[in-house]
Amino acid sequence: MPAKRQLIANPPPWPSGARCAVAFTFDMDADSILHLAHHANANNLVASMSMLQYGPRVAMPRILAFYREMGIKQTFFIPAWCIERYPAAVEAALADGHEIAHHGYLHEHPNEQTREREQYWLKRGIDVIERVTGSRPVGYRAPSYKFSKNTLELLLEEGFKYDASLMGDDIPYRLTNGKSSLLELPSHYALDDWGHYMFSREFDYKMPIKAPNHAMDVFRAEFDAAWRYGGLWISVWHPFVSGRLARFDAIADLMDYMAQKGGVWFAPLCDISAHIERLIASGEWTPRTDEMPQYPGPIPELERGM
Ligand SMILES: [Zn+2]
Repeated sequence: MPAKRQLIANPPPWPSGARCAVAFTFDMDADSILHLAHHANANNLVASMSMLQYGPRVAMPRILAFYREMGIKQTFFIPAWCIERYPAAVEAALADGHEIAHHGYLHEHPNEQTREREQYWLKRGIDVIERVTGSRPVGYRAPSYKFSKNTLELLLEEGFKYDASLMGDDIPYRLTNGKSSLLELPSHYALDDWGHYMFSREFDYKMPIKAPNHAMDVFRAEFDAAWRYGGLWISVWHPFVSGRLARFDAIADLMDYMAQKGGVWFAPLCDISAHIERLIASGEWTPRTDEMPQYPGPIPELERGM
């Protein structure tokens, strides 16, 4: 290992001297995305429906059992409609102490809505999470990464502590609207299972089918680099995609590899966010800040017809 190379300029100190922080986040979208994309005939797309419902019905118990075996807590982003529709999966996750975070109501896309509609769905999702878990969500991930120009302000109004939708760094950073701020816990498409595995005619997404080890090469390389340079490794999985037998077997092997390597802080995003807030409050570490919105509208340099 090259001793002097430092690819992350200002890595935060992780608890107990850990080399990096690791979060396996599962977005339990189930069939919300089928109703969203094919509202009129979703009930006639039976094979797709079965593929998506594999998530809450088969994959979730498998994932939770493995987390119990590992003795770790993680974060599940769940559209509120899925929380209402699949209570058994959600109750099991809660019983094991995992975090349930906000992921829209029916996986609707924030940046395709008016500010008022986005606010309506955000509040409706908060109400469901509060009713089911007993507390308001502290974390948010925009469905399909479709964070809008209004999302930050709406999250701040609702008191969210962190967002996990953006891709602007290798470590936590701060998003501010000039008045208040929250933490961004970033990830990247390389660490999202969708681009590796997703094959569905209904979603017009047809990645070549391949053995899980090909995908795991990418996830492991990203982890090794985060471990070496003090980064934050947040992966984005979907129970119906990666809770499948061979793929989850490979995830379990990856987690074993990380645990054996050592110096890894496995934590849910709410704990990572709280840790960073403590560092900031004590003055031990300061994140960089992105101000939003960056542009009030289309840039003036490019005139129509240019
Ligand atoms: Zn999703």
